[in-house]
Amino acid sequence: MSALSSAQQPSASPPALTRDRVFTGIQPSAGLPHLGNYLGMLRQAVAMQDRYEAIYCIVDYHALTSIHDGTVIRRNGYQMALSWLALGFDPDRAILFRQSDRPEHVELAYLLSTVVPVSWVERTPSFKEKRRDQPQDVNHALLTYPILQAADIAIYNARYVPVGKDQTAHLELSREIVRAWNARYGEYFVEPEAVFTDSPIVKGTDGLKKMSKSLGNVIEILAEPDVIRKQVMRMVTDTQRILRTDPGRPEVCNVCQLHRFLGDDYESIWDGERSARTGCVDTKRLLADRIIAFFAEARERRQELAARPGYVDEVLRAGADRLAPLARQTLAECRERMGLGGR
Ligand code: ADP
Repeated sequence: MSALSSAQQPSASPPALTRDRVFTGIQPSAGLPHLGNYLGMLRQAVAMQDRYEAIYCIVDYHALTSIHDGTVIRRNGYQMALSWLALGFDPDRAILFRQSDRPEHVELAYLLSTVVPVSWVERTPSFKEKRRDQPQDVNHALLTYPILQAADIAIYNARYVPVGKDQTAHLELSREIVRAWNARYGEYFVEPEAVFTDSPIVKGTDGLKKMSKSLGNVIEILAEPDVIRKQVMRMVTDTQRILRTDPGRPEVCNVCQLHRFLGDDYESIWDGERSARTGCVDTKRLLADRIIAFFAEARERRQELAARPGYVDEVLRAGADRLAPLARQTLAECRERMGLGGR
């Protein structure tokens, strides 16, 4: 049976699952994924497609909360999908689609919003951050972002959500929202669980804040090697290591920390830093080489796929089509329970 064929049969209870379902999304706020996206979420999502019904989404509705240029949203969405495919997403086993191709998400978000007290969304840390970061543009969709996110997951009754630690509050809110809806209208939605990697918060090149597109402190893993090299070479290391002869502190040095994920010899790299046998510049050069080598195949594959006209759009369109019965079924059943629409 295909991953979603069970969804074709309308039923009065949540769609039967052949395997647990996993859902996650990424914003088209940039075209290229960064190392934080990869270590915190993407590698987990790619691994999970083997064991679960995997549904992955380019969340372009969400991106509208900060980007208001349609050309940019469309271009980034295409580029991000291309990157995801290059990094190992397999359209024969899993589904990749564009959120706006399944507008049922938005209607479900509205239905869910009726059980959400305003205080729940007002206290979301990401809303507070955005209000600070874009004070000229505190739009309503920023406030309701977590409700749409809950709908993204709930519409497919996904159990697992691979995400970075920065998403903890959103996921907790998703759980509260579906719990509140279930309490009012009867058990229907699964409470989703976050799935973290062993690097749930990757720090940016500033060595201080979470790596994030909006902070401009990223290492773009599929960029050209010279871009990656530049991004790595500007990384802040151990700020107390002033002279080349000062011993380094790998525990606090972000460059050393990242080496843990890009080779199994990180302890000897750390020893080199501690004994000042190696300097920060050497360790950065090595990190850049390793990132470039680690993603070389994916970079090449990205170029190959980009050369196939219409390929990415076909994958996204087919993904959205496969999800249509499931999304419509969930929505129809919610509407029924909530007393909406004619019979
Ligand atoms: P960004 O924060 O750069 O805008 P997104 O919000 O699109 O990235 O995040 C996509 C996924 O990548 C989410 O699951 C998010 O938790 C994860 N992620 C983003 N940045 C990091 C990071 N620095 N460390 C770990 N995971 C991250």
